[in-house]
Amino acid sequence: MTSGKPPLHLLIAAPRGFCAGVDRAIKIVELAIERFGPPVYVRHEIVHNRFVVDRLRGLGAVFVKELDEVPDGRPVVFSAHGVPKVVPAAAEARGLDYLDATCPLVSKVHRQAERLIDAGRHIIFIGHAGHPEVVGTFGQVPAGSMTLVETVEDVALIDPADPANLSFLTQTTLSVDDTAAIVEALQARFPAILAPRSEDICYATSNRQAAVKAIAPHCDRMLIIGAPNSSNSLRLAEVAERQGVPARLIQRAAEIDWDWLGEPTTVGLTAGASAPEVLVREVVEVLAERFEVREEIGEHEPERMTFKLPRELVA
Ligand code: SF4
Repeated sequence: MTSGKPPLHLLIAAPRGFCAGVDRAIKIVELAIERFGPPVYVRHEIVHNRFVVDRLRGLGAVFVKELDEVPDGRPVVFSAHGVPKVVPAAAEARGLDYLDATCPLVSKVHRQAERLIDAGRHIIFIGHAGHPEVVGTFGQVPAGSMTLVETVEDVALIDPADPANLSFLTQTTLSVDDTAAIVEALQARFPAILAPRSEDICYATSNRQAAVKAIAPHCDRMLIIGAPNSSNSLRLAEVAERQGVPARLIQRAAEIDWDWLGEPTTVGLTAGASAPEVLVREVVEVLAERFEVREEIGEHEPERMTFKLPRELVA
């Protein structure tokens, strides 16, 4: 007996969803609540996902924009995106217990920035203005020692004082293809510019973009689960669109625009690095209410990255 529903081939990208840095940041908040009891304050959204933030709020996390909203005597966690140096310094000055959930791959970029400045170089930083990770990385070095470029066009506009003494670094969650084009423009204009020792775009960002590229040619539409302020999720939607597949970023299944989705043969589905798998399953279930869904997972190498938790929480 058939269900009478139209068939739908659902191609689910892999890898997708939570990365090791997001997983670690969430565990830090959970363990801090266990250790100190609620409320535990968290400066900024721990990761850019409303579902995650609401769940942690339910456990006793209180999200604030700035440190001065944290009352004396309560612990505070800094988000996975990283914070300018002045933030932990201010927490120390107030005698606050703080836990740094900055992703180790973001911290790696921070340390590189410090080393380059110590070596007397000026840094060209490829990233998105105003993103918390960019604010945090700029906050590792003295004002004026780093210049932001967001596009290939920006490269022609910058005017560094000593073009022979430049280095570049990047945000961890950029488009692999756009960044390659910007780096090419930088190297063409400043042949002596020093590249980072290893790629700054993180493994999770590049793997999720590659996974979208792998399935996009087979899809009529692509759904990306992620927040509108999640850089790596936005990049996934761009990657799909550039492969010629109309893509929509949705936070939850309820945001699916059914008119836009239409009656496709194959839909691609993925999730940004801050979106939990439970939201992927929610979308699958909602699609299955309207279609006879046949699920297929994209071929992939499993990710094995994990990051250690801060010693004070596991001791
Ligand atoms: S997306 Fe990359 S840099 Fe950001 S938290 Fe995840 S692993 Fe770390």
